[in-house]
Amino acid sequence: MNYNDFFAKALGQLRAERRYRVFADLERIAGRFPHAYWHSPAGKRDVVIWCSNDYLGMAQHPKVIGAMIEAASRMGTGAGGTRNIAGTNHPLVELERELADLHGKDAALLFTSGYVSNQTGIATIARLLPNCLILSDALNHNSMIEGVRQAGTEKRIWRHNDIGHLEELLKAADIGRPKLIVFESLYSMDGDVAPIHAICDLAERYNAMTYCDEVHAVGMYGQRGGGVTERDGAAARVDVIEGTLAKAFGCLGGYITGTAEMVDAVRSYAPGFIFTTALPPAICAAATAAIRHLKTSQWERDRHQDRAARVKSVLNAAGLPVMPSDTHIVPVLVGDPEKCKAASDMLLADHGIYIQPINYPTVPRGMERLRITPSPYHDDKLIDALAEALVDVWARLDLPRRDQALAAE
Ligand code: PLP
Repeated sequence: MNYNDFFAKALGQLRAERRYRVFADLERIAGRFPHAYWHSPAGKRDVVIWCSNDYLGMAQHPKVIGAMIEAASRMGTGAGGTRNIAGTNHPLVELERELADLHGKDAALLFTSGYVSNQTGIATIARLLPNCLILSDALNHNSMIEGVRQAGTEKRIWRHNDIGHLEELLKAADIGRPKLIVFESLYSMDGDVAPIHAICDLAERYNAMTYCDEVHAVGMYGQRGGGVTERDGAAARVDVIEGTLAKAFGCLGGYITGTAEMVDAVRSYAPGFIFTTALPPAICAAATAAIRHLKTSQWERDRHQDRAARVKSVLNAAGLPVMPSDTHIVPVLVGDPEKCKAASDMLLADHGIYIQPINYPTVPRGMERLRITPSPYHDDKLIDALAEALVDVWARLDLPRRDQALAAE
């Protein structure tokens, strides 16, 4: 049997469905964010990144780099094992304290990624609740879907951000049955925000626990970067706040925060925590430096919002089909997978602009888009160059402009 044939066939299927992915070979340049080198077939070229989830450029902040170097010099690189085997390195203890404080909770538990924190966190919490019913928003991230699946308990999917539908499903369940409502605060493909208070009202009325993914909001919203739950004064009402250290905090890792008992139970039962090596001390020290900085500095948050507003306004004025978004995410609709990839290729090769195409299954078919994420460091000149490049690509690919595209939606 030629096993490779199976893999080749699977890849062929992705190509036939026009969703085979190619990654650009990039080299970020510390201190020159959002500039990077692209190792192109023709050699190394300077490009501007417009789709990074290092939303605030913290991965290159001198305090964060300094903390990582200092910790690595003192403590070395790896953590030395799982926490069950090797104990906990002190920087990780400090980081968990910092995270619990960020969200105003008793305790925090760190995982190796936001993906793992959702997958093992949701599954473990739901399995510890007898006969738990999970209510999951239809647009939840794959890591949450996997958590729900691994929980193995009954689930209901509520239409995205539809409070009426969530209430219908809650009403149909026994009031005495444990229930877990899982949702995101900020949905990263459309840039819309969950009605957190309304969800918490329902949770209180129908006796449910709430689990909120703040991955695309921590660091960027709220007075201290506690996310949308902090901005909306809802953090104390949400039972579990989950987040990542890999986006606005510029590092790696994920976490949950909540009551001391819940966190201790997950620590004691979650396979995705117990059986994997802890994050290296240097990563933890760097993340702590980023969180501490963003707890007091407003500059990054203010400038981030200012830049996102400017990008939206300049692209709209240029007649480009910017999809409405309440947040820092700027999606521009293409509506065709091949043209989306072609637009991305042209931007990179002809304009030195890197924006990864977003195709199915990340977004529904027909809603393919360029997802633009302005940072505090994208200045007016870069924004104008982006608009000019997009207008050129739109004309060359004969893509629908603002009025046509949004009217057809
Ligand atoms: N939750 C959401 C909503 C995400 O979009 C992502 C990743 O993009 C994750 C969780 C996973 O986080 P991480 O990248 O830290 O694994």
